[in-house]
Amino acid sequence: MLTLTTPADTLRYVRERRHAGARIAVVPTMGALHRGHLALVERARAAVGPAGTVVATIFVNPTQFDNPDDLAKYPGCDALFLPEAAAMYPDGFCTFVETVGPLTDKLCAVARPGHFRGVATVVAKLFNITQPDVAVFGQKDLQQVMIVQRLISDLDFPIELVVVPTVREADGLAMSSRNRRLSAEGRRKARGIPAGLEAARRAYAAGERSSLKLAEHVYDELLSEDGVEIDYCDVVDLRGFAEADTATGTCVLAVAAFIDGVRLIDHVALDGPAIPNQD
Ligand code: AMP
Repeated sequence: MLTLTTPADTLRYVRERRHAGARIAVVPTMGALHRGHLALVERARAAVGPAGTVVATIFVNPTQFDNPDDLAKYPGCDALFLPEAAAMYPDGFCTFVETVGPLTDKLCAVARPGHFRGVATVVAKLFNITQPDVAVFGQKDLQQVMIVQRLISDLDFPIELVVVPTVREADGLAMSSRNRRLSAEGRRKARGIPAGLEAARRAYAAGERSSLKLAEHVYDELLSEDGVEIDYCDVVDLRGFAEADTATGTCVLAVAAFIDGVRLIDHVALDGPAIPNQD
């Protein structure tokens, strides 16, 4: 697998690949890879075919930088774009992609001001650098993927967005690079997130429509534990991305919770498939 560290080298590489007839897929990540990322790479490969080119990217704030070597072990990627911060944000950088409106005034945007502006800016840059036909993102980061969808359509990127369902541990916990920061006890408490979401999904299937009552299932699972703080637990209608007092089939229940200081997010489509929770 080729490792690229500058935008110019990466652009040259993808142009050569495209000239050779390859379709290009990009899989943006922040490193610390897990099976969820692998599912994205597999989906990217399926989208562009064996003759296509799959480029994974790892870019995080340098202070959060994780061991990049692990991507080299991942099958399925042709190239890894691994820029340093200075290559992405050189001195004098002053242009950002601003996000406004319902997608950026609730859920994760409240606790993380400026976060989605940063996401939109870096994703737009990665699209320009890797020139993909297909971009693959995870459903787990719901608000992020919806912002990327708007970014693609609002800024006319000729890119097909592919969204991969959340890959979970056997007990239902959504895979996340943050899970490795949980203690054994924190890991046990974190099960309450998928358990509560699944209980809410079942309650919805059984006819419950009150968003407060649905959210209570998550509170019931989590608030009995010490060291757990719920940041938000809201029913959101994906049409319009508005909070809903009464749940419908286009709603999700989305939660963010701090477990021993580690912020985890997850959501369930109320009318969607079950979250497996093994006992
Ligand atoms: P991250 O490295 O955590 O920023 O994630 C990079 C990409 O992987 C994003 O598109 C995430 O939505 C996706 N991703 C993270 N966790 C999962 C998961 N458990 N299942 C599927 N995709 C995921």
